Amino acid sequence: MIYDIAIVGGGIVGLAATRELALRFPGLAIANVEKEDVFNAHQTGRNSGVIHSGIYYKPGSFKAKLCVEGRKLAWDYCDAKGIEYRQVGKLIVATDESELGRLDDLWERGKQNGVEGLEMLDAAGIREREPHCRGIKAIFSPVTGIVDWARVSRSFAHDAKTMGVDFFLGHDVTSIGRRGGVTVLATPKGEVQAKHVITCGGLYSDKLAKMTGGARDPKIVPFRGDYLILKPEKRGLVRGNIYPVPDPEFPFLGVHFTPRMNGDVWLGPNAVLAFAREGYSFFDVNPPELWDALTYPGFFKLATKYWRIGAGEMYRDLVRGAYVGALQRYIPELEPDDCLPGPAGVRAQAMAADGSLVDDFVFEGADGIVHVRNAPSPAATSSLAIGNHIADDAERRFDLRRNAA
Ligand SMILES: Cc1cc2nc3c(=O)[nH]c(=O)nc-3n(C[C@H](O)[C@H](O)[C@H](O)COP(=O)(O)OP(=O)(O)OC[C@H]3O[C@@H](n4cnc5c(N)ncnc54)[C@H](O)[C@@H]3O)c2cc1C
Repeated sequence: MIYDIAIVGGGIVGLAATRELALRFPGLAIANVEKEDVFNAHQTGRNSGVIHSGIYYKPGSFKAKLCVEGRKLAWDYCDAKGIEYRQVGKLIVATDESELGRLDDLWERGKQNGVEGLEMLDAAGIREREPHCRGIKAIFSPVTGIVDWARVSRSFAHDAKTMGVDFFLGHDVTSIGRRGGVTVLATPKGEVQAKHVITCGGLYSDKLAKMTGGARDPKIVPFRGDYLILKPEKRGLVRGNIYPVPDPEFPFLGVHFTPRMNGDVWLGPNAVLAFAREGYSFFDVNPPELWDALTYPGFFKLATKYWRIGAGEMYRDLVRGAYVGALQRYIPELEPDDCLPGPAGVRAQAMAADGSLVDDFVFEGADGIVHVRNAPSPAATSSLAIGNHIADDAERRFDLRRNAA
């Protein structure tokens, strides 16, 4: 069988795109190809579960636009499907004067991005919202929430299946070639053939792009984030999300306090170089992947620029007391004994050849192909809007209206 479109990747981005294409083009034959035996085994099933408001992102960027749109679409979707989410809100807290300028910049960004209901709080306002949190000034975002993104994503897969999409789980795409005008996805379990292909491969998005002759850059560098979990008797220390003022030089948001849908409170994640793209512990090492990352010209430049931050993150990763020390800036009562080891996630972070970390979402197109090359946080929040964006792009590039007629 030759499908009209094959989407590679059964994480939230691939599944949102699959669902949207199936909705728009009921007449097309669509396949989704995922290497694992289950959906959401990687970033989508291993994240903080935050519905981001859209405050952080550069006005006019894909992130700014698609996060705000995606958040609203996610609310509507969850309402329609009966998927529980909670508007627990979020504080971005400055703990000393040096952070106030950056906090004001974020406030401006949030306003420009159209984030609703932002409030600037003083120390007393912070205590009112989060009695155990200390800070001198904070932005409160009432529209930030929490949800189980893997549950949302499974629901996308269910919708797509109901609309007739064929799923190929356990099919690792090892090469992508052209034969007789058709694109052939080779996997150890056999080929999947399609007229058009969309790749949403998360931690392997650069490898998939390379299989079709796409540019080497940007390259994915995996950054692991380890979480701690608050002991149940200490959950009262936190009501909603509490975040630091992020370092504008670094693409990650800093260790934070996040309530989960099951009642847990997660602390973290930090950001350390992972020694394997799907390496969820310090001891997971994939030598070819590690060598590949270390020998990329941009990596040396990145390491030279960030070695101090990187060394600090690695130290805090290995020494629980130091990790908790970073969190005590916000909740001084927190003790290392209040925390249990938690899960880990690995972020697919794109890096340019000059060593800069690519901040925005990156989409790339070629003949008959669309690649999602960078979809880091807040891509879960943005997923429905990204799905729309990919479907618009595919519609244009693949001339789908004519094909569907
Ligand atoms: C620690 C952490 C915390 C985060 N917190 C948040 C948050 O609170 N809110 C938020 O909005 N976002 C958050 N994010 C970001 C969000 O989780 C990701 O941006 C999003 O899940 C990306 O989805 P994806 O489908 O692109 O990638 P993935 O979920 O990684 O899915 C990619 C899929 O492609 C498959 N694949 C790869 N290669 C192949 C191949 N060759 N053949 C077949 N299949 C292949 C993989 O197996 C995988 O299932 C966080 C991410 C991390 C890691």
